[in-house]
This record gives sequence, structure tokens and C-alpha cells, in this order.
Amino acid sequence: MSSLSPNAFTLRGGCDCRSIRYTISVPDLSSRLILPREDPTGAEVRSPEIFLDHCDKCRRVSGALVQAWFSCPQDWVEWGTTSALESPTFTRLNTADLTSSQPGNLPIINYASSEGVIRSFCGKCGTNLLYMRERRPEEDDTLMVDIVLGSLDGESLERQGVRPDRHFYWDSGVNWIKKLVTEGDRSLNENGEGLPKHPDSSRKEVV
Ligand SMILES: [Zn+2]
Repeated sequence: MSSLSPNAFTLRGGCDCRSIRYTISVPDLSSRLILPREDPTGAEVRSPEIFLDHCDKCRRVSGALVQAWFSCPQDWVEWGTTSALESPTFTRLNTADLTSSQPGNLPIINYASSEGVIRSFCGKCGTNLLYMRERRPEEDDTLMVDIVLGSLDGESLERQGVRPDRHFYWDSGVNWIKKLVTEGDRSLNENGEGLPKHPDSSRKEVV
């Protein structure tokens, strides 16, 4: 069950070279989309969904052992550059514009990884940013987007409840990876003990 704050809040993130930045405006709890499924306790599930994804395709595209997603309605997300997001005169791009053939002046690369699916990357630094697929007939009219959770700024990742709370495509996963993420592995040295600190480990981000 989600432990996100019930109040409205904003998350920020973007690519490594900072050519592409985004904000996610999460509304208060009563305004969050109710999803057509229940959690294991039978309670309603509202956007966003934050989850680990064990499918082969997402693992390859991310290059990470496990892909993690922040899935929400497209209209929560706005796209721009660092300076553009600070400028009140800038016309922010919505996600549909971003994944169109004319994505403003952002260096986005859109990759059709399967029918009806777009995955987007920064064309300068290669950061994997989002997954979007066409709406299916049985779904309601709300267009959704999955934002790569790891592209959020460190400060946003440390907000209350902004962490995966379920596994998707568990049956597709690699056994040792599933074990690693659920049980850990005591043979890895925990907390990087005895190893040098990362020289660029500051989590201070400025949008
Ligand atoms: Zn970039």
C-alpha cells in the first residue's frame, strides 16, 4: 500500500546532461486517478503506481538489473530544459508533444520498442526517461506514462513513499536478481564498507 503523502507535491528529474528536465505534479489524494484494480487487501489503488519491472525488454533498455517505474497520468508531467523550467515565459511540453516527431527543442530520441510503444531517451547523454504506449480500447481515456524512477533527482527519491511497492512481471525475472532485490546478498559488502566514497555523490540538484 502506498505511503505517499496525501497532500499535493512536486517531483523533479531529468537526464544526466541536464538537456531534458521534467516536473511531476502529484495532486492531493482525492484528485488522484483511481485505477481499475485493487490492492491485496481489497483497497482501491490510485495513481501513481511505483514498481519494479522484471521483464527482459525493460532490463535491456535500461541496462540495469531491474527497471523501476513511476506510472502516472501524462498530464501530471511537464518537460523542458533546466533554464526553460525556470522561465515563466517558456511553453512547457506535455508528454504527447515530447514523443511526437517535433519535440520542441529538446534532444529527445523516441524508440518504438514494440507496436504502440514509445520509449524515450536523451539524444545527448542517452538517459532512458520514459515508456508510453497507446491506450487500449478497454481502458478509460486517461493517457498514462511511465517515468524511469531512477531519473528522478535524489531529493525527490527521498520523499515519503517515493519508492517501489510491488513487482511487475515477476514470472519473467531472472532468479538471482529477484533474490538479490528481495533478500539481499550478504556476500556483497554492505554499505560499501572500506571502499572509497563516490567523488560525485552529492544529491543536491537544482532544477
Ligand atoms: Zn541528456
